[in-house]
Formats: sequence, C-alpha cells, structure tokens
Amino acid sequence: MASRIYFDHSATTPLDPRVFSAMAPHLSSAAGNPSSPHHEGRQARQAVEFARGQVAELLGADPAEILFTASGTEADNLALLGALRARHLSESHIITTAIEHPAVLETCRALERRGVSLTLLPVDGHAQVDPSALCAAIRPETRLVSVMAANNLVGTLQPIAELAAITKAQGALFHTDAVQAAGKIPLNVKYLPADLISLSAHKLHGPQGIGALYVRGGVTLDPILFGGGQERGLRPATENVAAIVGFGMAAALAAAEIHSEAARLSALRGRILSGLRARLPHATLLGHPVERLPGHLCLGFPGHEGDMPALVIALDEAGVAVSSSSACSTAKAGAPAPVLQAMGLSADRARGFLRVTLGRFSTERDADRFLDLLPQAVSSLPSTRQAETFSATPG
Ligand code: PLP
Repeated sequence: MASRIYFDHSATTPLDPRVFSAMAPHLSSAAGNPSSPHHEGRQARQAVEFARGQVAELLGADPAEILFTASGTEADNLALLGALRARHLSESHIITTAIEHPAVLETCRALERRGVSLTLLPVDGHAQVDPSALCAAIRPETRLVSVMAANNLVGTLQPIAELAAITKAQGALFHTDAVQAAGKIPLNVKYLPADLISLSAHKLHGPQGIGALYVRGGVTLDPILFGGGQERGLRPATENVAAIVGFGMAAALAAAEIHSEAARLSALRGRILSGLRARLPHATLLGHPVERLPGHLCLGFPGHEGDMPALVIALDEAGVAVSSSSACSTAKAGAPAPVLQAMGLSADRARGFLRVTLGRFSTERDADRFLDLLPQAVSSLPSTRQAETFSATPG
C-alpha cells in the first residue's frame, strides 16, 4: 500500500525524528523540575536554558528576550493583553488586520469589549496590508499594532519590517504573529524592529503545546496568569521541559536549513502549480503569487466552492491529507472564510478553497502522486459528474 501524503503543514507538522530524540531523555522518570536545586532540577534548568538559546538564535535575539508559553495562542494573548493591561484601556487604541488568526483577532475583540478602541486594517486582493493604510490609521494614542508575518490560510507574507518601522516612529509597540513564518522565512530582530513576536513549535516540526514570545529588552508586560515566578513571572507554571527541549532542537534545525528548505519547497510548490495548470486549468491560486510562504498553496475552484469539503474527504480516502478550512477557524463549516472576504472575494467564492501546504518530508514523488490523485478526486465529486464543468483532465 502506498504511504499517505501529508500536505497540511499549516495545520501542524510531523515531529522531526531528531527532535524526538532530543526530547526522549526528558520524558523519562529521571526528569527534574527546573526550579529544584538538586541534580535532576539543575539538569532540567540547563536543558531549558539551552533551548531558550536555540529559539533566540532563530530570531537573532538575546536568550533573555524569549519566554516560553504553552502555545502560539498563549503567546499572542500574552503579547496583546500583557501590553495593554497596564494602560488606561478606554484611552488606548490598537491596530490589527482583518486577516489575523483568531488568537490575535479574538484577543483584540476582547480588549475592545473592555473599552479599547480597535482599528482593523484592510488587505488587498492578495491579502497584503498597504503600509500607507497603517500611516493613515495610527494615532498618538495607538499603543500597539499587531500584523501577522504570514497568513495561515493563503500564505501571503506581510511587509512587517516596514509596518514595524512606521509603528516605532509613532512610539507604539509592534507585535507580529510569526507562528506560520518562523523557521520558513528569515526573521532577525536586529533588522526587524518588532517588540513582540509569537512563535509555536508545532509549525516547524517541533512538538505541539509549546510556544514562545519574543519580548524586546526594555518592553514591559503585565502577566495574564498568576502563580509561581517562572519565566520572569510572565508565564508562571512548571516548565514543560521535554517540549521546550523539542522546540529548541526544532528551532536549531529550522535555522540551519532555512535557505535550502525555502528553495526546495518553492520548487516543489512550482512543480505542483504548473502540473495543476495542465490538469485543472480552472483552479486559481489565492494569495500573493510571489510573496508567500515557500511551501504554501491555496487553491480556488470558482463555481465549486461548496464541493471543497467533499474534495478533502475524497483526497483523504485516496491517501492525501489537505484542508478546506483553517484548523483554527472560528467560522462555521460552509460559512465564507473571513480572510477571503477581506481579500474582496464574494461570499460565494469565499466559501471554499483547498489548502495544500508542504513541509520538510514532502518529496517530488509526493507532489507527482498528488497531481495524479487530485484530478481523479475532482472527477469523483457529484457536481463534476453531473455538470462536467470542473475542467478535470485526468492525468
Ligand atoms: N497564529 C497563527 C498564524 C496560526 O496559524 C496558529 C495556528 O494555526 C496560531 C497562531 C495558534 O498557534 P497554536 O496552535 O500553537 O496555539
């Protein structure tokens, strides 16, 4: 039986075996609590601090600027709530975009319910923010601007260096949710004037349930959780040592391979796209044609948006994992995707897409098998059999 093809890396990535090996000793019964003064505790502390250095290096940061959190979602919450809590909320203004992940968007809405004034920047048809829109929206009372580095649904990259520079010139804090971008495109805080950056290990072949927040030296946050004093009092809980070690190794591997992997995945993406143009000329690429994550494809099938969930099931049965909705979407199944609507797609067109996202273990063979299986899956859909309008050329 042919092995399965996993093309859903934006949802989560398989653990790299080298990451697993690094984690394994810390899952054994000898693992200590990093706050304990005995040998086992000291070993655990050493492992956590080594991993902190590895994650810092991915961003060109100082290890003291990295806080471990339980997820990317928690890092986003800590960045936004932690930066705003100490302020007079009703006199504060924050800016984000209409295409953020719910971890940012819902946190901003929670702040809005507490009296903060919120501006959502629009995006263009490629899902990109125009820096001049930020210039127009930013005001003296703007405390924080949050713009994601790369969009999870369509893969578009944002001009975050420019947006951060505009924000800093106004004296506000700049946060970027780099959960999808970290380890895939270079991010270096020596050149990127961001104050706060959210990361998540499971998007870069690390374990699930561990994230990090980069906090630039000198930036102060209020805690959103209360307890012991771990992570400088900003994330009080016993550290998840094995997951932190795994995150460190995943970050080190991503940093070492970032340029070669970006080139390899872009080529693989190009191979799929040109194969698709020959086989399914009806399909369109959503998001930016060039400024996008290397291994990210988001496809539209105009007129067949409602068929996407069935297409995902047909592909799953054929051995391919892709997605037709964001794994973290708060939208109801069949409802228009807010990101696509923000890009100007009609409610009907925004109802369906096929997200195909590649990763470290994706191969040319996988890409070619996918190109064979997709037209077959398309032709098995009830609407295709009835209407013959899907332009599927089996091949
Ligand atoms: N931000 C973005 C852009 C994401 O894609 C995700 C997860 O899909 C998150 C935040 C949340 O990360 P986590 O799953 O670690 O909570």
